[in-house]
Amino acid sequence: MKNLSSKKGKYKVAYFSMEIALENGIKTYAGGLGVLAGDTLRSAADLGLPMLGVTLLNNLGYFKQKINDKGDQEELVSNYDFSKLKKLPNQVKVKIGRDDVSVGVWEYLIQGQGEYLVPVYLLDTNILGNLPKYSSLTGQLYGPGKDYRLMQEIILGRAGIKILQSLKHRYIKKFHINEGHGSLAAIELFLNSKEKNTADKLDEVRRKCVFTTHTPVFAGHDVFPLEFILEYQKDFPYKLKSLVDKDKKVNMTKIGLYFSNFINGVALSHQKVSNKMFPNYPIHAITNGVHSETWTSPAFAKIYDKYIPNWRNSNLSLRNAFNIPLSTIWQAHQKSKKALLDYIYKKQKVRLEQNVFTIGFARRFTGYKRSNLLFQDIKKLLHIHKNVGEIQIIYAGKAHPNDDDGKNLIKEIFRIKDKYKSEIKIVFLEGYEMKLAKLMISGVDVWLNTPLPPNEASGTSGMKAAHNGVPHFSTLDGWWIEGYIKDKTGWAIGKKRNGTNLIELNKKDAESLYYNLEKNILPRYYGNPRKWQETMQHTIAINASFFNTERMLQQYIQENYFVSET
Ligand SMILES: *Cc1c(COP(=O)(O)O)cnc(C)c1O
Repeated sequence: MKNLSSKKGKYKVAYFSMEIALENGIKTYAGGLGVLAGDTLRSAADLGLPMLGVTLLNNLGYFKQKINDKGDQEELVSNYDFSKLKKLPNQVKVKIGRDDVSVGVWEYLIQGQGEYLVPVYLLDTNILGNLPKYSSLTGQLYGPGKDYRLMQEIILGRAGIKILQSLKHRYIKKFHINEGHGSLAAIELFLNSKEKNTADKLDEVRRKCVFTTHTPVFAGHDVFPLEFILEYQKDFPYKLKSLVDKDKKVNMTKIGLYFSNFINGVALSHQKVSNKMFPNYPIHAITNGVHSETWTSPAFAKIYDKYIPNWRNSNLSLRNAFNIPLSTIWQAHQKSKKALLDYIYKKQKVRLEQNVFTIGFARRFTGYKRSNLLFQDIKKLLHIHKNVGEIQIIYAGKAHPNDDDGKNLIKEIFRIKDKYKSEIKIVFLEGYEMKLAKLMISGVDVWLNTPLPPNEASGTSGMKAAHNGVPHFSTLDGWWIEGYIKDKTGWAIGKKRNGTNLIELNKKDAESLYYNLEKNILPRYYGNPRKWQETMQHTIAINASFFNTERMLQQYIQENYFVSET
């Protein structure tokens, strides 16, 4: 790899994120937010965009998931191999309460399609001399307790800015704060401002900050009492007009909004929801994407290389999937499917059938994602399976260690899987991480998603599936409102509707799910292969060519990063 020192000073955008998924073996991420951050920086490297990343080392990872026969999730430590990270000599100090905490830094370089390198800086408090309560702060991602969370956010935001100064990155024009965890970076910039009065200081910081919100429900935002914040940060500028809520609470998302001139949600529908949540702020929409190369299976990469040679650095060219013969798409899919089925056999000694229609579902197990919607009326599902077309089902996903409801949902899938095992094949794969995600999104025949609108800000796994010609089957929420083209790119569960009667909504959505399976999806899969293959082709040409991080970053560039401020 090239020596980076020759490029010092040229980076202009710093991207702050609590988690960044660098690669499968480096467990610095928990799920969607981290994968998006990693995909963003991978596309930045491809585009030669002068951008860098700042995150925590998270050397104990999130957790390694084990599930026993009954479906109980066990959480093991998942420390990872450090050999791809380089420890830098720089150290800074940050105040937590009255204590000085030392923060060190590691570097990981992302190389794009060309020679360009995007550095990611991983902050580390496991430094000689730090008290144990501080040295553990950059270990476990989303660890227990609100003190731990706030202290982690102080490290990410405030020590993050100091590290960039120590590394002599002097030309950063934009600080992109990815979700509220990094909002304290804006506080550090504000307190460092050399402007004379408050209005000018605010102006300076706001010109520099970009904020992306990802959470359409209030409960998902970090909120701390002001008193608590002041215990940990004596210099927190609580006197700034309307920074602190009337009830003396500090909402980390609102800090991000307050200090940023450019704010965006992650899909058109999420923009609308966010505008309602925060009516005092103008919120733009930049719909998420995924890094095309990362999420394309080897079999599809091979045919894209042949038919769309520039797809890796011009993701938009995937529109030319219309020129790939349908049989070629089908064969590539069969290879990806076989890779997944072989993996399942290796792990669980269960043989799923290559020729049987396969539904995939994998996401964090939590209430609103309704991972059990497919089983609302199991008799109906079995009826379809026996009379319309055979089905097999593959599940995966973690529940947050503190989310007992989520864990029970996993157990429920296990109960159903065992109870009906002589009638329908259902598999649950443990350890949903990037590598397994890639096998699944490319290896199933349809990718299912069932969030209760409007809870899904965007969702990205369906975009990954699209890169492998796998059509999406989902409620109309997040990105799918934009990606769904009736009869062309997949199927919609339910209508765009709101309601408060959850039981009623679940029932209606489940009915729609079964109706689509019975009348639209299975008849096309088994009865009209040509039409099915066309659906796969449309999925690539229409959705993969758009829902990628290359397009997403170009929007950030155009709407904010490099818009000159006069
Ligand atoms: C892509 C991905 C996610 C996020 O997918 P959603 O569709 O947003 O649920 C979560 N975990 C892993 C490992 C992923 O690769």
